Amino acid sequence: MIEIKNLHATVDGNAILKGIDLTIEPGEVHAIMGPNGSGKSTLSYVIAGREGYEVTEGDILFDGKSILEMETDERAIAGIFLAFQYPVEIPGVANTTFLKAAVNARRKAAGEAEVDAMQFLKLLREKTKLLGVTDEMLKRAVNVGFSGGEKKRNEILQMAVLEPRFAVLDETDSGLDIDALRIVADGVNALRGPERSMLVITHYQRLLDYIVPDKVHVLAKGRIVASGGKELAQELESTGYAGYADTEAA
Ligand code: ADP
Ligand code: MG
Ligand code: MG
Repeated sequence: MIEIKNLHATVDGNAILKGIDLTIEPGEVHAIMGPNGSGKSTLSYVIAGREGYEVTEGDILFDGKSILEMETDERAIAGIFLAFQYPVEIPGVANTTFLKAAVNARRKAAGEAEVDAMQFLKLLREKTKLLGVTDEMLKRAVNVGFSGGEKKRNEILQMAVLEPRFAVLDETDSGLDIDALRIVADGVNALRGPERSMLVITHYQRLLDYIVPDKVHVLAKGRIVASGGKELAQELESTGYAGYADTEAA
C-alpha cells in the first residue's frame, strides 16, 4: 500500500533523510522510533508534502503511484491522514462543519455522493462517543481554545471520521501524558483493519504498550538502522538509543 524507496530529503538545503526504504502492507501498523534529531518528524512532513521539505532522491508510492507531485490536500483526499496537519486552529469554522467538509471532499474525489446532515450526525455520534468528545467541542471553532488533551481528542476524532487508508501519527516528544497516550492508542486501535495501514512515530516506547505494532523500525541519522517485531521496542526501552544515537541532539 505504501512504499518508500531510497528516500532522500533536504530541509533548507541540509540533507536529513539519507535513503529510507519502508513498505507497509494493508492492515499493518508500523512504528518508527529513534533518538531526537534522527529525522522522524522530517519523514512525516515529507509524506505530508510540507513546504520546504525537498525530496532529492527516491520515491513514495501509495497504491503503486508516486505521491511526490501531489499537493498536501490532494494527498489527504487520496486517503492519507497526517495527524499533525490538523491541530491548527481555524477561527470561525465550527468543528462539525470542518469535519463534514473534509468527509465530503474525500467522497467527491472517490465519486461517491455527499453525506447528508442526518447521516453525518449519525457517523459523528458513533465516533464522539468512543472518544469522549463533547457536543460543546463539536460546536466550537476548530481547535480554538482547546486544551492539549482536547486537541489530541479532536485530532483522533478527525482521523476516525475521515477513515483514512494510510495514517501517519507523529507523536512529538512533548506533551503526551498518560491520558493523551490512551486517547491516541484507543483511536488507532479502533481504526485497525485489513484495509488500513498506519505509521506511528514516537520517541518513547510506552506508546507502544498500548498500540502493539506489527513492525518496529529504528531511525538514526536519517536512515533505518534496525527493523524487527514489537520486541524491538521493548529492547530499546532497556538499552535506550545509545547504540544508535548520532548526536546529543535536542
Ligand atoms: P526528530 O523528529 O527525529 O527529532 P527532526 O526530523 O525534527 O527529528 O529533525 C531532524 C534533523 O533535521 C535535526 O538535526 C534538525 O536539527 C534538522 N532540522 C529540522 N528542521 C529543520 C529546519 N527547518 N532547518 C534545518 N534543519 C532542520
Ligand atoms: Mg525532535
Ligand atoms: Mg520529531
